[in-house]
Amino acid sequence: MGTPANRPEEAPYSRKIIVRYSAEIVDKPIVYRLVKDFDLAFNILKARIFPRREGLLVLDLVGTKENFDRGIQYLKESGVFVEPLSKRVSRNMDRCVHCGACVAFCSTDALSLDRSTMQVHFDPEKCSGCEICVTACPARAMEINLL
Ligand code: SF4
Ligand code: SF4
Repeated sequence: MGTPANRPEEAPYSRKIIVRYSAEIVDKPIVYRLVKDFDLAFNILKARIFPRREGLLVLDLVGTKENFDRGIQYLKESGVFVEPLSKRVSRNMDRCVHCGACVAFCSTDALSLDRSTMQVHFDPEKCSGCEICVTACPARAMEINLL
């Protein structure tokens, strides 16, 4: 009457990615393969086709971490350029009032306060894309760019 010794359920893994593809592969069923071969669910957050038929997709992918990694590998091997969406955090300088509220939330020191000038600096190279500052900023100066 014991229960079967199942493997523990893996927590769903979810990531938003930007996918860019060239006109040569625009007709490949790329997203379909992600679902069928790698068991990944997706939401299309944005889709854009440019005049020469290059395309851009912003996808929210959900699955297991292992399948996500395999799916991303498949995309890259297919000639698709993939990058994480969450890295596209930027600061709108027209809105930033250098209040410093974001600095304490930033775990990577991408946001830092220069005490000599009382100006807040943003270093995109250090940004992990955690997006915490986006909600922490009262002036809504930290933005997620969907291109
Ligand atoms: S919280 Fe917003 S307004 Fe304040 S320093 Fe940071 S980015 Fe600028
Ligand atoms: S997204 Fe995260 S790591 Fe990047 S600046 Fe904001 S709080 Fe720092």
